[in-house]
Amino acid sequence: MNMKALFLREQRVLSLEDTPEPEILTASDVIVQVTASSICGSDVHFWKGHFPSIPNFILGHEFVGVISDVGKDVRSFKVGDRVAVPAAPFCGICANCAVGKVYNCLAVQGMFGAGEIKGNLPGAQAHYVRVPHADACLAKIPDSVSDQEALLVGDVLSTGYFAVENGSPQPGDSIAVFGAGPVGLCAVACAQLFSPAQLFLIDIEDYRLEQGRILGATHLLNPKRVNVIKHIKSLTDGNGVDLTIDAVGLPQILNECITCTTPGGIMSVVGIGTPSLEFPMMKFMFKNLTMRGGYVPLIHMKRLLTLIQEKRLDVSSLITHTVKLNSIIEGYHLFANKEDNCIKVMVVP
Ligand SMILES: [Zn+2]
Ligand SMILES: [Zn+2]
Repeated sequence: MNMKALFLREQRVLSLEDTPEPEILTASDVIVQVTASSICGSDVHFWKGHFPSIPNFILGHEFVGVISDVGKDVRSFKVGDRVAVPAAPFCGICANCAVGKVYNCLAVQGMFGAGEIKGNLPGAQAHYVRVPHADACLAKIPDSVSDQEALLVGDVLSTGYFAVENGSPQPGDSIAVFGAGPVGLCAVACAQLFSPAQLFLIDIEDYRLEQGRILGATHLLNPKRVNVIKHIKSLTDGNGVDLTIDAVGLPQILNECITCTTPGGIMSVVGIGTPSLEFPMMKFMFKNLTMRGGYVPLIHMKRLLTLIQEKRLDVSSLITHTVKLNSIIEGYHLFANKEDNCIKVMVVP
């Protein structure tokens, strides 16, 4: 049987094509019928050539769906189960997975929809996807949680949660999130779970800041209009915040984070905007700061789905647009150009 899928072809051309449906290859696989996927900044980076890739692969790593086939060793899932899927699957049993370092799984090195240089796992902007190591990495979606509510769990919401949790915030702390893209906005929503006294959000797009207010940001700062450093310091006894979160990843943002973090405070970095950068070592050292960062360990999907189910967490408002798979290329343009105040595009079959 054939299905539709979005390929990245040579010359960075997006091409929606008919291609054979995936099949079970190993006993721990399942096939997921995609009921919703989303377009991510990473997809755009592959398309535009900002991230290295070898063309001719199916894009997409953010998705939820229904299991349509299971390998013979799969124990925890059956045909018909609704599941959320991590952007980067993991085996769950290797030496690294066993201690929670699933981001460095020794059995699967890669993510869906990133081509040959990242594991060669066909992506989810398609009707069906093969998911390896299903028992280890899938999470069941509770009946009362919609696809739209669950869709961001496997990547950007997990990353936002990781960004906050990695900064070890205490109730009453002050937190500043730099960047109101989907990850930064998810970090704002997750920061709420830790009861900060002040939650600053910094971005140059007012419509994104406004979304941050809905998710719980207490101070919205647009650098086009205010001096961010001065403003934050004036509201934190001249010291800066307990935790800064960099959801952008550019040199000037890292620099601002160092300036805006209180002595002894923590910087949590999840933005990847540049492969290498100059680091203001002296400023960092003499403030006794701690910087943590990295690629999200996708082990909190169940926790996040429970929070969503209990109405303690809801980032579904970030999905501002929905397109059919047949119109996905229009969705890419909408998302990449931030047309019509777009934040996130959901793709449905
Ligand atoms: Zn993503
Ligand atoms: Zn592993």
